[in-house]
Formats: sequence, C-alpha cells, structure tokens
Amino acid sequence: MERITHWIDGQAWSTPAADRQGDVWDPATGQVRARVDLADGETVRLAIDAAAQAFPQWRDTSLARRTEVLFAFRDLVHRHRDEIAAAITNEHGKVLDDARGEVARGLEVIDFACGIAHLLKGEHSEGVSTGVDTFSLRQPLGVVAVITPFNFPAMVPLWFIPLAVGAGNTVVLKPSERTPTAAVMLAQLWSDAGLPRGVVNVVHGDREAVDELLVHPTIRAISFVGSTAVAQHVYATGTSHGKRVQALGGAKNHMVVMPDADLDLAADAAVNAGFGSAGERCMAVSAVVAVGECADELVSRITQRMGALRTGDGRRGCDMGPLITEEHRDRVASYLASALDQGAEVVVDGRSVTADGAPEGFWLGPSLVDRVTPQMSVYRDEIFGPVLSVLRVETMEQAMELVAQHPFGNGAAIFTSLGSSARTFARGIEAGMVGVNVPIPVPMAYYSFGGWKSSLFGDLHAHGADGVRFFTRGKVVTQRWPDSRATGQMPGGPDLVFPTNA
Ligand code: NAD
Repeated sequence: MERITHWIDGQAWSTPAADRQGDVWDPATGQVRARVDLADGETVRLAIDAAAQAFPQWRDTSLARRTEVLFAFRDLVHRHRDEIAAAITNEHGKVLDDARGEVARGLEVIDFACGIAHLLKGEHSEGVSTGVDTFSLRQPLGVVAVITPFNFPAMVPLWFIPLAVGAGNTVVLKPSERTPTAAVMLAQLWSDAGLPRGVVNVVHGDREAVDELLVHPTIRAISFVGSTAVAQHVYATGTSHGKRVQALGGAKNHMVVMPDADLDLAADAAVNAGFGSAGERCMAVSAVVAVGECADELVSRITQRMGALRTGDGRRGCDMGPLITEEHRDRVASYLASALDQGAEVVVDGRSVTADGAPEGFWLGPSLVDRVTPQMSVYRDEIFGPVLSVLRVETMEQAMELVAQHPFGNGAAIFTSLGSSARTFARGIEAGMVGVNVPIPVPMAYYSFGGWKSSLFGDLHAHGADGVRFFTRGKVVTQRWPDSRATGQMPGGPDLVFPTNA
C-alpha cells in the first residue's frame, strides 16, 4: 500500500511509524489506494520551524532570482501536468480532462505570479514637502499557512502559494487529507525549480493539524478554502490569534434564465456547470431559476442533454465521475428523497445510474429536481453533488431576491439576450462573481476570486490584486537628505510644533 508522507524542509518527511494515518480512496473503485500520514501538533511545529528558518534568506533573495524560480516552476508544472491530473483523478474521481483543466487554471496563477516584480512595485512622490520625498513598499509577512479542500487538489494551493512565495513569504500547506498527492507533487516541483528548502512545506492532516496552524504565533496569515462551517472556525480562531485570514467557504450558485435567453445555450450551460466534476465545485450551478414561460421548455432541453451523459471511471473517457466518498454520495442522494417528500418533482433520478466503473465506486448519476421551492432543504443547503434544482419565478426581480435571501453568495449567472437585464443583474446581484451568459464565472488569475456573505470571511479575495495585498504589508517611507554643507543652510533648531508641509 502506497504511503503518502509530509514534505518538510525540502524533503519527504515521515516518522518511522506515523502515529495516525488516514485512508486515501480511489472513489471510482471504492478501494483504499494509499495511506496518508496525519500530522500531530509536533509535526506541524517542525514544518513551521522549517518555514521560519527559511524566511529571512528568502525574503532577502532578489526579485530577479525569485522570478527565475517562478518561471522554472511554471515550466515544470506544465511539463508534468498530465501526471498531476492523473493523480487528481485517482483520488478525487473527476474525469481526466476536467483534472487537466484544473491544472491549467492553476498554471494561470503561476503565470500571473511570474510578474511579481511588477506587482510589488511601490509608488514614489517627489517633493511632498520641500526637499522631502515619499515612497511606498510592500513587504512579505513571514510564514503563512494555506489550508485547502479536497475538490481542487492542485488549483486551490496554486491560487495562493505562487503569490505568497513570489512576494517573499514562506509557506506551510495543509492539503485535504482525502486528496493529498498533488500537493506533494507540487512541493517536489518547487524544489526542482530551485526553491530553497523550507520555503514550501506540506503537512497532511485533519483538524488537529489545522488547529495548530490557527494558533501558532509564528503563522502570520492563513488562506483557507473549504466548507462554511470550517471557514467560520478558521476565521474566528485565526483572527483572534492576531492573524490575517481569508477563509473561502461554501456556495449555492444560481443561474437565472430569462424568457429571452437562447435556451439551447442555457441548457448546455446548466448541464455543464451542474454536473461537471459531479457538482463538487464551489462554482457549480446548483439552482436554475427559470423566469416566466421558459421553464417547461428549459427543463425539457436540460433533461434531453442529461440523457447523453456517461457516468463512470474518470480514466475511461466518461463525462462524470464518482463522488468523493461513500458517505458523501449517500448524503447527496438523501436530498433526492427529501425533495420528493417535500413535494418537488424528481425529473431525473441519479440513484438508478448504471456507471461505467467498478460496482463498489461511489456513484450517483446526474439528477434534476423541478418545482423546487426556497423552503426545501435541496435548495437551502449546499449539496456539493450532481443535483440540479429548478425553481420557477415570474420576474427577474424575484429571481434576484432569491439570490439576495440565500446565505451563500459565491457566483451567480444570468442567461439573457437583453443588455439591459444583464446590466441590472450584474450591478444588483448579491454575489461576488457574476456571469452573463457564462455559467461558471471564475475570474482569470489577474482578477480576484471570492464570494460574498457566507461564501467568504475576510476582506481580500484570492489571487489578482487582492492576492498580492493579502500576502504583503504596506510601508510608507518619508525621507529627506538635507545637505547643509552644499546649501550653506543650517538646520533650524528644535521646533515642537506638529510638522506641516511647506
Ligand atoms: P472541508 O471544510 O471539510 O475541509 C477543508 C479543509 O479543512 C481540509 O484541509 C480539511 O482537512 C480541514 N478541516 C476539515 N474539518 C475541519 C475541522 N473541523 N477543523 C479544522 N479543519 C478542518 O471542505 P472539503 O469537503 O474538503 O471541501 C468542500 C467544501 O469546500 C465545499 O463546501 C466547497 O464549497 C468548498 N470550496 C469552496 C471554494 C471557494 O472558493 N469558496 C473552493 C473550493 C471548495
């Protein structure tokens, strides 16, 4: 049985017999494929110490050299993208092409971070007062922690680490214990790219490891991505221990379809965004809101497309893979039963799927639930599975009100052919990322990614300009260089009045 170990101070790190280990499953076979070491507080402290030791030298490494490492890392991730994608599929279950897409989106953040020299440039004002100049700096924070979820084992760590490292910080990454391999592969590639040891460390683990990161005094900032319940815990504990925290939580993304929309485009989008990665994406569409008379036709076109989807092993060219665990699959399936009980209509029931894969895989086929109301649990909760709900309303205002009333506010999309509707929606909708005829509006790396309400705790979003600000702190220098020998003017002597500019 393969054993997945930590990566500390530039090397694979394990105790002879780790006290605690976790199972890593292959969700498409329903078998345990590896065991992962789970860190206790002492192991986490070793990783933090390695990062703390590496910090002064890495902070003082020139921008030219740091950029060189980023470019080399980019090249290596590009070269190894298929291996990383295969590791993701083995542990997460998403189909290979989707896993490749994840790595490609991660690469975009590395591309962005390769411009770190430009991104860290400060401002300079000459002559703010007589003979006085002012300039601003952005400096690294020190040791930062990155804690990531199971569903994007490569992309989410890459949202943060390239910018954190590029800005001169050192990092302890705690990836999901359910999908740990990609993180170790990336750590190895950082090392191969010439990153000094200790700058990026990986500790595997669960709550015990996370709780040590949240309170340890050396950790200056925490980037967390995961469920809202854990995000709240991370934000509350981290900030109460004096840390800067950005905690991205769960989601329930609405796709509003107007009667004037291109219904084929909308039906394709609903199917792609609802069932890609088996709905285990924080930007998955899980609620389609049909406005006015288009509802019946939209449901019919979505249903038709769902008939063509093949659920099965992600290594076999299927459209949709399994869910992450048996327990999660059962939980997602239970929403279909409760929707029926509560009066919704289950148009396509994924519980009866015949999957192209091992019988023990964690299968649930794409499911469509119509005539859902805002009170039903299938709508209220984040399900994180291949269950698409359809709600019917009369006006766009009612659709927008649904989004406003929902506790999550990650993404929201409108499908329409009217610019005026699109503009009203984009300006007024209560969500952090908005799509117009785009179902999964994940911003490019040079913009920032983040939701509103219970989808994000903290002020700054991930990557883009916010990411640079998150991993740096500002400093403003005011300076003068009086030269009394050259000018013949002697300093004016003590003056206790508050200085003003002249
Ligand atoms: P999770 O909250 O269970 O785990 C996230 C991380 O927290 C993991 O590293 C895990 O080991 C750790 N963790 C779990 N329980 C903990 C606890 N009690 N105390 C401390 N740490 C704990 O999330 P998940 O199931 O891995 O991922 C799915 C969730 O992540 C969904 O809710 C999804 O919406 C969310 N997500 C959000 C975004 C976003 O950008 N907003 C992106 C991806 C995933």
